[in-house]
Amino acid sequence: MSKSPATYRPETRLVHSGTLRSQYGETSEALFLTQGYVYNSAEECEARFKGEDPGFIYSRYSNPTIAMFERRMIELEGAEAARSAATGMAAVTTAILAPLKAGDHVVASRALFGSCLYVIQDLLPRYGIETTLVDGAKLDEWQRALRPNTKTFFLESPTNPTLDVLDIPSIAEIAHSGGARLVVDNVFATPIWQSPLALGADVVVYSATKHIDGQGRCLGGIILSSEAFIAEHLHNFMRQTGPSISPFNAWVLLKGLETLGVRVRAQTDTAARVADVLASHPKISRLVYPGREDHPQAALVKKQMRGGSTLVGFEVKGGKAAAFRVLNELKLAKISNNLGDAKSLVTHPATTTHQRLKPEDRAALGISEGFIRFSAGLEHADDLIEDLTAALEKA
Ligand SMILES: *Cc1c(COP(=O)(O)O)cnc(C)c1O
Repeated sequence: MSKSPATYRPETRLVHSGTLRSQYGETSEALFLTQGYVYNSAEECEARFKGEDPGFIYSRYSNPTIAMFERRMIELEGAEAARSAATGMAAVTTAILAPLKAGDHVVASRALFGSCLYVIQDLLPRYGIETTLVDGAKLDEWQRALRPNTKTFFLESPTNPTLDVLDIPSIAEIAHSGGARLVVDNVFATPIWQSPLALGADVVVYSATKHIDGQGRCLGGIILSSEAFIAEHLHNFMRQTGPSISPFNAWVLLKGLETLGVRVRAQTDTAARVADVLASHPKISRLVYPGREDHPQAALVKKQMRGGSTLVGFEVKGGKAAAFRVLNELKLAKISNNLGDAKSLVTHPATTTHQRLKPEDRAALGISEGFIRFSAGLEHADDLIEDLTAALEKA
């Protein structure tokens, strides 16, 4: 498989890394929509099963289109190896569950995507894996939660939906001091703005459904780490349990990567402009944007991220009724629970993604009834600002 020279910059890798040309010399990566592979001889087949011939065996294990997607992500992220999965949640669940057994302990930041919280809080304990949730911004809570049987720390940064930024290098250090690994869900930062492996994390997971597709088409996920982590914990688990991505979806995501840098930069510029306008708006009581000087962890953002965010969080005065009026008045930005799309999307977390939480738990996370998450799309920033300010007039 073609490996790009180490000197290439991310934009170049996004277009060229991992390309595996067939005998036809196609420009665009081919879609290998095949379940299996045929062999020239019984001997070749035997060698492949023995691992002596590196070819493909079955698409639950690997597939040329999926391999191209994984290779491109490996080179972008600076990882040694990767395994893709059918969804972001298949990737998160596998990265967390596959290395663990009953009696192990996991510590996670409380501010998690709803389904990630389900895995930590509800699923793991059913299999005898103990879990502790902490306020991820407080390093002493991570330190105190560490036990002799702690195997994994898990966090998202920036967090969903309040866009808090957690100190990845310090949390990695605490994990390593106790012999645990740090798994980071890097969806909100994207590989363009943050490289958790370079910051000390051991494993990075993505929902490729979000910015990597970025055009609302298909689901996908990926886990990136060292060769050793994959060989020891993921290789067999994923082959035998089968959370595999379809070659078609891997192809869509592979093509999505070509424009990831351009899209994320444009969406971040738009989000920053929207944040600046909303910050001084009289109908808004709180605005969070990583990249503004008034972000609670502005210094940390500068230290560990290369850019801000495609997302903006803001609280409308007047609670749920006012927030709903804004959502219903928007003409351009669409009401959705999704993010990272070419189309701007707005979410009311308290009644959707975080509806399952108790009101006091939502309050502790800063998710008030008036809180709205805005995901900047690729529309013109001025059109979005006009749409938002017109809707806020009605709040
Ligand atoms: C969407 C999302 C996931 C889950 O991804 P799916 O592809 O929907 O399964 C996990 N973590 C975060 C932070 C997300 O935003």
